[in-house]
Amino acid sequence: MRDSRKLQNMLRIARCVRDSDYPSRADLAAHLELGPPAITALVGELIKRGVVMEDGSAESKGGRRPTRLALAPEYACAIGAELSQSHVRAAKIDFRGRVVGRNTHPNPRRGDAGAMLDALREVVKPLISDAGRTLVGIGVGVSGIVDRASGVVASFPGIASWRDVSLARELGSRTGCHVQIENLVRAATLGELRYGNGRSFRNFVYVHMGMGLGLGMVFGGRIHEGAAFQAGEFGHMVIIEDGPVCYCGNFGCLESVASIWAMVRQAHDAMDKGVRSRLEELRNETDFEKTVSIIFSAAKEGDRLAVNIVQRTFRHLGMAIANVVNLLNPEAVILGGALAVQDGAAQDELAGQIRAHVLPGVQPSVRILPAGLGHDAYCLGAAALEFDNLMSDGRTLLSKRLS
Ligand SMILES: [Zn+2]
Repeated sequence: MRDSRKLQNMLRIARCVRDSDYPSRADLAAHLELGPPAITALVGELIKRGVVMEDGSAESKGGRRPTRLALAPEYACAIGAELSQSHVRAAKIDFRGRVVGRNTHPNPRRGDAGAMLDALREVVKPLISDAGRTLVGIGVGVSGIVDRASGVVASFPGIASWRDVSLARELGSRTGCHVQIENLVRAATLGELRYGNGRSFRNFVYVHMGMGLGLGMVFGGRIHEGAAFQAGEFGHMVIIEDGPVCYCGNFGCLESVASIWAMVRQAHDAMDKGVRSRLEELRNETDFEKTVSIIFSAAKEGDRLAVNIVQRTFRHLGMAIANVVNLLNPEAVILGGALAVQDGAAQDELAGQIRAHVLPGVQPSVRILPAGLGHDAYCLGAAALEFDNLMSDGRTLLSKRLS
């Protein structure tokens, strides 16, 4: 009984060290409501076991400061991978949540599920060999409809033949590793929650604005998954009755009006009707990054079609995000994806639209900020699935005896 309470308190300390910026023993005592002697003894044991370490890098200049603590980066590592329409890549992440190795598939064949699985296995393989015995497992963020509990990806955008692929089991048997999967946007949300700009909030939404759209919701420090793991299908809110047809079969979904996919389609439609524009460059472009760069550089140079498409996109996104804010009253909105990293007028338009449509009572308390991790959010969040599993109870955490 006493042993289990001790394990429980060691776990609470480890989690608190993970979620705080270099806490001192006194910070832990105050936060966890444990006496200083108990904290000293338990921290001592965590240090002895290699889970936590003293770290002087957070010391400020001048004056004697209490010793700061952090997770010991070498205690464990995980591989986080991204399997999306635009990328197949992976990163090795240390226990402190830092990227310590990367690998990207140069040219994945996107024809069917088998080819995508092969690409995923190839991309994680060198990282597995490099990780050695400290590897706890592989987390994968996947585009599409993902059942996290069963490890099955029901569908994948752009691959019509993809049906109910047991991705966690398949990758597990191909690599011999423990594998967990999550929807790509929720993986990025978890990344921001553990390691990015979501660290300071218990309630926030992460809005992904890229080829498609997605929404991750965090309530009380936990990701909201929904009854069938489909919460956050923000892109399929119908916003224009009889609007353009969406690939889901509805008309006027937000994603069919305001996403990179929709922007490309609008450009093609206009040019097919004879509009002259610099966006002609999009005609033969299949690379995702180049597509985005063509649209935004044309808008910056004043190309009328590009300017109109960009402004319209951000206007619709701003209104939709304001609706989400009014509905959920989060502390913060974190903006991620390729549309979030464009600078200048487009961003001002977006923030302005959100502010203009958020209710006055909600307005003062909501922060609007960019994602803190950039593109690493996917791999970091996917790896966090494995670290969260390791830190699910005290016995599991301490059973990881590595040397
Ligand atoms: Zn739709």
